Amino acid sequence: MVSIEQNIAKIKINIELALAKRHNSLKQTTDFIKLVAVTKNHDLPAISTALEAKITAVGENRVQEAASKYDKLPNGLEWHLIGHLQTNKVRQAVQMFDLIHSVDSEKLALEIDRVAAKLNKRQDILIQVNAAGEDTKFGIAPAELNALVQMVIKLNNVRLCGLMTIAPLYDDTEKVRLVFREMFNMFTELQSAKIPQTKIEWLSMGMTNDYIIAVEEGANLVRVGTGIFGPRVYL
Ligand SMILES: *Cc1c(COP(=O)(O)O)cnc(C)c1O
Repeated sequence: MVSIEQNIAKIKINIELALAKRHNSLKQTTDFIKLVAVTKNHDLPAISTALEAKITAVGENRVQEAASKYDKLPNGLEWHLIGHLQTNKVRQAVQMFDLIHSVDSEKLALEIDRVAAKLNKRQDILIQVNAAGEDTKFGIAPAELNALVQMVIKLNNVRLCGLMTIAPLYDDTEKVRLVFREMFNMFTELQSAKIPQTKIEWLSMGMTNDYIIAVEEGANLVRVGTGIFGPRVYL
């Protein structure tokens, strides 16, 4: 049986290979890739094994599940919220997460700002973009990105750190590649705008099925669950 350690080692090699395959126009882009281990539906022993294999960041998509694990894992671990966030869960989310990837509305941004102010925190966030315009996905349309950015940057207790997307499950990987390329263009545009009080640092895209393509196209944060832990068991 392949182990969690071996899976992580393989993913790191794949990331290096993908970096080497990047087009020349991306050579200036950072070659540091943050690997976030998506721990949803995986238990503490499995997560501990990943931490022993030098995973430093975990991703959860539900606040409640994260809360059930939070106190049982070591301090200093980075926590990423990658799933949709409801306004009534914002308080718990701001208490736990270093980076919230899934901000996709003014209402949610305002609530995060309000709660973060009370907790004396500046909450790092990404804006989730529904780049392919799928009905079934959260995230804002690319055409609405600028308006949300303009609103978010006015909030004192929220810091915009970049963009996130979930690519569609196309059979045709070239279509996935185009979605990632579009995201990279939005990301570099946001970076070059040099907006004060922001730190446009992360382009979060790529999961087990498509992280290699994502890195080739400029992602610097990938979210991998199944590829590390194997299939999720839904209890
Ligand atoms: C579950 C999930 C992942 C990881 O998916 P895998 O296919 O298991 O790697 C990544 N991102 C988001 C937003 C998720 O919900």
